Amino acid sequence: MTSCDMLLLRFGEITVKGKNRSRFEKAALSHVKSLLRPYPAAKVIHEFGRIYVELNGEPAENIIDALKNVFGVTSISPVKVVPSELEAIVAGAIEFVSAICPGPEATTFKVSARRVWKPFAHGSQEMNKLVGGPVLKASPHLKVDVHHPELELHVEIRERRTYLYSKVIPAAGGFPLGTNGKAMLLLSGGIDSPVAGWSAMRRGLEIECVHFHSYPFTSKMAEEKVIDLAKVLSRYSGQIKLHLIPFTEIQTVLAGTGQDNLIITLMRRAMLRIASMLAERNGALALVTGDSLGQVASQTLASMNVIGRVTELPLLRPLVMSDKEEIIGQAKRIGTYDLSILPYEDCCTLFVPKSPSTNPNLHIVERIEASLAGLTGMLEAAVEGTETLVIKPHEPVQRKAGDEAEIKEDWF
Ligand code: ATP
Ligand code: MG
Repeated sequence: MTSCDMLLLRFGEITVKGKNRSRFEKAALSHVKSLLRPYPAAKVIHEFGRIYVELNGEPAENIIDALKNVFGVTSISPVKVVPSELEAIVAGAIEFVSAICPGPEATTFKVSARRVWKPFAHGSQEMNKLVGGPVLKASPHLKVDVHHPELELHVEIRERRTYLYSKVIPAAGGFPLGTNGKAMLLLSGGIDSPVAGWSAMRRGLEIECVHFHSYPFTSKMAEEKVIDLAKVLSRYSGQIKLHLIPFTEIQTVLAGTGQDNLIITLMRRAMLRIASMLAERNGALALVTGDSLGQVASQTLASMNVIGRVTELPLLRPLVMSDKEEIIGQAKRIGTYDLSILPYEDCCTLFVPKSPSTNPNLHIVERIEASLAGLTGMLEAAVEGTETLVIKPHEPVQRKAGDEAEIKEDWF
């Protein structure tokens, strides 16, 4: 990528969002700037509908890898910049093409010029020929194919400068981080919930993670695993909060009811009630889980129905219609898979019944809960006992009692 001096970042569907557009673009711009901190010479320029990153000698490939994770950006092109003068454009095009496609194997090729700056002396069609001819002469292994070329050289003529590019590298897409509000992610140590969290972030949600542990029955290793998973998620958001909730006492009481086949239903409902309280405290308007329809007994439609009725908040299940293989593929791509398959126990695996109900009865479940006089108080106590960590991708974890851990608003 020697011939590239700038990156062009494009926005996708956010451009159709009318008056919200500038707010959305600003959020993506801040995200880009935060990821460029390790590259001080790189300069960011925001233009309506686009972001340019002038590399000024910083490494293109590393920066592309980082910026591919900016939500709201759909694609990135490495660009060569030349003055908007015919000779400079032709010379630049010859150099650009020979750098990315040196031959000798035959390659099909086409020029797609676009005269954005109308005072430029030559029109788009004319420029295709004025650039294409000399490029073909300089690189005889190229062969013109205007329909399905392997190499399409874009020539975008603007007032001050002309941009030459061919590659269009797909990026994360979605909406810029935090532009669609905040939700609490129920983060277990499994494969699904980190993927659900990433999907929610990609849709513009700010996420705070909630994890239930049964320490000392679950180990510190299991907790470390969840912290590490949250750390991977923080790479996509700059930082993330993780609320650790003591769940041992509640689980013990629920198990004490002797309702073996309903225990998972009861535990999930307790988790949702606690997560809803934390949502209220933290200004979140939804809960996100890693549920996928039919995957396990607690994720049948009947189970989801009975479990979900315990909260009034919208329950977002990004993976509900995904197959496990698709979820695993995504977990690998976002970097959570290898952590998720570490064999540490989750609080729920401690109480796995022989035959969990796939069709729980809401009235029976509510009756059991009503018979547990201290349950609501215990849920509130669990909220009070929350430990909140602020997790950043490259820094040691800050631990604080309560859920008051500071999160800097200006992290971007
Ligand atoms: P995952 O791979 O995300 O753990 P799973 O297939 O193992 O999912 P379950 O164990 O049934 O499914 O959990 C369903 C969802 O409930 C999880 O995706 C997660 O959102 C939430 N959940 C389960 N256990 C916990 C926990 N200990 N803390 C927080 N959330 C949890
Ligand atoms: Mg699980």
